[in-house]
Amino acid sequence: MKKIIVAIDGHSSCGKSTMAKSLARRVGYTYVDTGAMYRAVTLFAIRNGFFSEDGTIDSASLAGKIKDIRISFKTGADGLQKTLLNGETVEDEIRGMEVSGKVSPISALGFVREAMVEQQRIMGRDKGVVMDGRDIGTVVYPDAELKIFVTASDEVRARRRFDELEAKGGNRSTYEDVLKNVRERDYIDSHREISPLRKADDALVLDNSDLTFEQQDEWLMSHFIAATAD
Ligand code: C5P
Repeated sequence: MKKIIVAIDGHSSCGKSTMAKSLARRVGYTYVDTGAMYRAVTLFAIRNGFFSEDGTIDSASLAGKIKDIRISFKTGADGLQKTLLNGETVEDEIRGMEVSGKVSPISALGFVREAMVEQQRIMGRDKGVVMDGRDIGTVVYPDAELKIFVTASDEVRARRRFDELEAKGGNRSTYEDVLKNVRERDYIDSHREISPLRKADDALVLDNSDLTFEQQDEWLMSHFIAATAD
């Protein structure tokens, strides 16, 4: 079986990371959550006061610091992957609504994308990775052997994200807040100038609105087997 790169792109909160993680675990590949990387940069910008009251970003200051931002991943004691920002675990903070509300404009900045894409290409140098994001099959790995484009209706995606926030506890957002955020991120992600979210011409489309996790996993596994066959 040859080692490949699996690129999973798609809309916000459509379960890309769940399916990517599950495949990586089953086949012994490394999982790379590129959304977590943009979220960590956003947290860095918030902490350093690079956002003004009206949401404007001091991009010159962020650009000056971008080389100081190191993002890595580790497996926590609970067996789940955690995101580290300059060595500090920031997994919970990057999933909150403050970061979710600010991440799309940060990820539209060219110098931020350049820095992240460079790190992502290093992470996939030896293949054997499942990487999820918005531009993996189009920009980061246009030659990936298996490309998937995932989507689901806005309402289904907002409901899943809302349930996730509720399950974590301490959620202060309503379902409507989450739906608005999902739609805003989709809009910004698909209309930005640099690397907009779009399906690669050779990507397989999966609409998982009405699929169970098991059905989705089996669908992905069958395509993985076909793509790795010699
Ligand atoms: O995947 P997730 O929803 O956590 O990603 C958060 C945000 O990061 C997205 O809304 C998008 O703005 C940005 N992103 C991106 N390119 C990627 C992954 C995520 O622009 N490859």
